[in-house]
Amino acid sequence: MAMEQEKKPHAVCIPAPLQGHINPMLKLAKILHSKGFIITFVNTEFNHQRLLRSQGSDALSNLPSFHFETIPDGLPPPENHDASQDIPSLAKSVDETCLDPFKNLLTKVSDSYSPITCIVSDFLMGFTLAAATELGIPEILVWTSGAGSLLCYNQYQNLLEKGLMPLKDSSFLVNGYLDTVVDCIPTMSGIRLKDFPPFIRIIYPGDEYMVKFLCAQVERAKMASAIIFNTFHELESDILDTISSMFPPSYAIGPFHFLEDKIADKSLASIKSNLWKEEPECLKWLDSKPPLSVIYVNFGSIVVMTPQQLVEFCWGLAKSNYSFLWIIRPDLVIGDSAVLPPEFLEETSDRRFLAGWCPQEQVLNHPSIGGFLTHSGWNSTLESISCGVPMICWPFFADQQTNCWLSCNKWGIAMEIDNDVKSDEVKNLVVELMSGAKGNVIRKNVTDLKNKAEKACTSSGSSMADFEKLIHLMQEFSK
Ligand code: UDP
Repeated sequence: MAMEQEKKPHAVCIPAPLQGHINPMLKLAKILHSKGFIITFVNTEFNHQRLLRSQGSDALSNLPSFHFETIPDGLPPPENHDASQDIPSLAKSVDETCLDPFKNLLTKVSDSYSPITCIVSDFLMGFTLAAATELGIPEILVWTSGAGSLLCYNQYQNLLEKGLMPLKDSSFLVNGYLDTVVDCIPTMSGIRLKDFPPFIRIIYPGDEYMVKFLCAQVERAKMASAIIFNTFHELESDILDTISSMFPPSYAIGPFHFLEDKIADKSLASIKSNLWKEEPECLKWLDSKPPLSVIYVNFGSIVVMTPQQLVEFCWGLAKSNYSFLWIIRPDLVIGDSAVLPPEFLEETSDRRFLAGWCPQEQVLNHPSIGGFLTHSGWNSTLESISCGVPMICWPFFADQQTNCWLSCNKWGIAMEIDNDVKSDEVKNLVVELMSGAKGNVIRKNVTDLKNKAEKACTSSGSSMADFEKLIHLMQEFSK
């Protein structure tokens, strides 16, 4: 019998074109590279240009075994090249236009570098499964959020069929209906309608498309060879168990950044994924502050708020009397750029640092940070857990409500702000988190989880074990 010929494994990694998806996919690509994989990393042209502008072309220079390629996202060039794209339009455009350019790219990189042995694609890029099937390449999907939010997305159809959603009209946003407890997910008992990703309320333009799109992606995912989660068993074991009967085999290998720190090639450290230019000066300011004295505020890469929410919120921070580091993205506020009241700026001048984008992982690791006021994006949640920083959650959309519910109710590592934000509530929560009895308990719980996350990524830990199994599977593909 002829000896089986082993090809050098070559993974094409394609994130959804959003900051919170590019970050974990890049980390995963670096981890795979450390195991001998050739990596082709595929960005949209729009995002690739932003990456080049924010960190310079050297940072993305092509190494022989780690290169970048692009495909168009199908949208017309935007007016503002440094703002987040509209999510429903982007999702629709990518889903409807990217298949052909992606297939052409696969053929091109297979010819120029080496045959592709696996596609590692974001869940939201379900069109890639059609390319994989047509070209006979195995595909693994990456769910960049927690397992809990996937379980919620998987219930969408159920909620629609039961008539619990959509909302009849916008009065249902405020009449208490969303507090209805939905006992359809055994591992998430007590979860309320308001804790589900809110597209399903079908109230705002684009919601209906997003529900259809997300249900379709969740269904398509069932065709993948495997699913990778950026989580760890000790955090979501019951949820992962529930998922195992619904989806292809899953591998929980998070937090990705712990594995990256441990095993990724240091020569790849200069490759970063910030779409905005980092302002590292805040780290020096943090150096001047006592331990656990600063509250860090960041709403991630997509959230936008109204000018009224901004002003109400800023007075809460001011009234707390704590020092704060607040990242205000240039496009954080709807309409004009963020305008903070001059009295607020004057009153807080000796205890605040404002910036447009920061090195978040370094900030969270800084000893002066005592709490994180976050929108509950999954990366931010996991990064906060990894640094043992307790949170205040102000979720806006997508998986943020579910992550907030998990953090506050299941894991006891956070407190929630009402979306109809009031400055006194912000003040009270900040004071409680930084110095109250509840804050103390939360800090202890999150420190506990941090230790478990670290342990999961040691050589005998659960994430490392899943990672080794995953590599074995991916190496089998190259035989
Ligand atoms: N991030 C950062 N600097 C900032 C804001 C965000 O480095 O000033 C990173 C953050 O560390 C995280 C990602 O951007 O990895 C945001 O992802 P997340 O899932 O928290 O939220 P999203 O932006 O997707 O809503």
